[in-house]
Amino acid sequence: MQGDFRTEFVRDPVGLRQHPALVLNADYRPLSYYPLSLWPWQEAVKAVFLDRVDIVAEYDAEVHSPSMVIRIPSVVVLRDFVRPQKRVAFTRFNLFLRDGFRCQYCGSKGDLTFDHVIPRARGGVTSWENVVAACSPCNLRKGSRSLRQSGLHLTRAPRRPGAEELRDRGRRFPPHHLHDSWIDFLYWDAELEA
Ligand SMILES: [Zn+2]
Repeated sequence: MQGDFRTEFVRDPVGLRQHPALVLNADYRPLSYYPLSLWPWQEAVKAVFLDRVDIVAEYDAEVHSPSMVIRIPSVVVLRDFVRPQKRVAFTRFNLFLRDGFRCQYCGSKGDLTFDHVIPRARGGVTSWENVVAACSPCNLRKGSRSLRQSGLHLTRAPRRPGAEELRDRGRRFPPHHLHDSWIDFLYWDAELEA
C-alpha cells in the first residue's frame, strides 16, 4: 500500500503545461524533495475521488467529464501519513545526491563518474564507504592507485547517509519549474534570514 505513494513521480514536468500536482505527506511536507513528489494530474484527480488525498491548492485549469467539471489540483495532501523509509538504498542517484553531484576530489560538477577510493583491483568493495562521485579527469588521474599515491584528497570521508540527511540534500536542488502554489510547502520550514 505504501509503495503506491512513493514511486513514479513526474521527473520533468514540461513547463507546467501538464499540470502536475505536488504531493504532500499528511504532515504537509513533500513526500520527496528530489525528485520532487509530483503526480500527473490524472493521478491526483483519481486520488481525490478515492478519498486518499485532500486538495490544498488548485490550478485555474479545469477538466471536464460528461457529468462534472473540476479544477485541477496543484497541491494535494495525503490523508494517511506515509512513514519515510529509514534505510537509504545504495543507488547511483542516492550516491550522487549524497555527494551533492560534485566530484569529491576537486569539486567539479561536470562529467561525473564513480570512483572506488580503495580500487577494486586492491580489494576495494562497492559500498557507501568506498565509492564517491568523481569527475572523469580525477578518476583517470587516480586510476588504480591508492588515495595517498594519487596525491588526491577527498572533500569528506564517504559514509552511509541518513534518510533525513539525504532528504535535506535533495532540498538544495529545486526543480526547474515551480508552480507558485508549491513554494510555501517547499520552503515553509526553511530557516528565516534575519
Ligand atoms: Zn574532479
